[in-house]
Amino acid sequence: MTLPPPPRTRPLGRSGIDVSPLAWGMWRFRGTDTRHAASLVHAALDAGITLFDTADVYGPDNGEPFGAAEALLGQVLKAEPDLRRRIVLAGKGGISIGVPYDSSADYLVAACEASLRRLGTDRFELYMIHRPDLLAHPDEVAGAFDRLRQSGKIAAAGVSNHTPWQVAALQEAMPFPLAAIQPEFSPLAIAAVEDGTFDQAMQQRLAVLAWSPLGGGRLGGEPADARGRDVAAALDAVAERNGVPRTAAAYAWVMAHPCGAIPIVGSQTEGRIREAAQAMQVRMTRAEWYAVYAASRQAPLP
Ligand code: NAP
Repeated sequence: MTLPPPPRTRPLGRSGIDVSPLAWGMWRFRGTDTRHAASLVHAALDAGITLFDTADVYGPDNGEPFGAAEALLGQVLKAEPDLRRRIVLAGKGGISIGVPYDSSADYLVAACEASLRRLGTDRFELYMIHRPDLLAHPDEVAGAFDRLRQSGKIAAAGVSNHTPWQVAALQEAMPFPLAAIQPEFSPLAIAAVEDGTFDQAMQQRLAVLAWSPLGGGRLGGEPADARGRDVAAALDAVAERNGVPRTAAAYAWVMAHPCGAIPIVGSQTEGRIREAAQAMQVRMTRAEWYAVYAASRQAPLP
């Protein structure tokens, strides 16, 4: 008996929007070659991916200015305007370099508007707070989401890197339900299954966008330590049985959790983005899923 395979689409929380079971992320999306950038967007669409994840702060980590990744996608969309309707666009704001977090209502509204200008589009299907601002009351954040939704600039709202209690406090203040969370989750980063994050997502019907599903690329190459070797070996067993690369087994492991986690593929290589689609073919037994989990914990399960 294998675990249920991922469905063809997943609901974006209770927003009424459906998305692909895999997403593509633009943290590492960089450069000035619009044609190359467009080839990556097409690779993701060809792989069946409709959910695209970006953020205003994607740029400086690549040695580029704040907003650079959004601006690059904006160039791609400008050259091929028909692409926009094929994409469910997710953005994030609330990180202000040097502050570092600002979720005050005026800041968030202005940040979202600036992102939309760089992208050359008038609406995010999903807009998320990138990291919690400890100085922003949930009422204020909810008020910002309300203003953005009332003005048609966002269709749905979510949060990233929030604790379950932070999500609960914000949900209570929201005039419409939060649609999504974005925690780190991979065979090398398993906190979200253990700290209540995924349980809350299932309780509240939140979509789960899993960031760094290959552990920031560590699962793509040679493991660096004993834990990495054990996790890679457990994934390789699944990969070999299914005739797919280890990375596909890793995405499939993320997708197999019943919260319906959506791995955000981070590759900026056309071939690897296309290869991610193979994750849809992987069939994994319960024992195989737990073997990866136990390897990651570096302790047998009681
Ligand atoms: P990842 O999939 O864990 O890592 C992607 C990296 O792995 C790329 O540099 C890729 O290189 C490398 N890689 C090495 N071997 C690979 C292989 N065989 N197949 C695919 N990739 C391989 O994801 P990530 O880039 O760290 O994060 C994914 C997305 O999550 C980001 O783009 C962003 O949207 C989101 N994110 C969100 C947060 C947050 O705080 N909310 C934080 C981090 C990331 P190549 O490009 O050369 O293929």
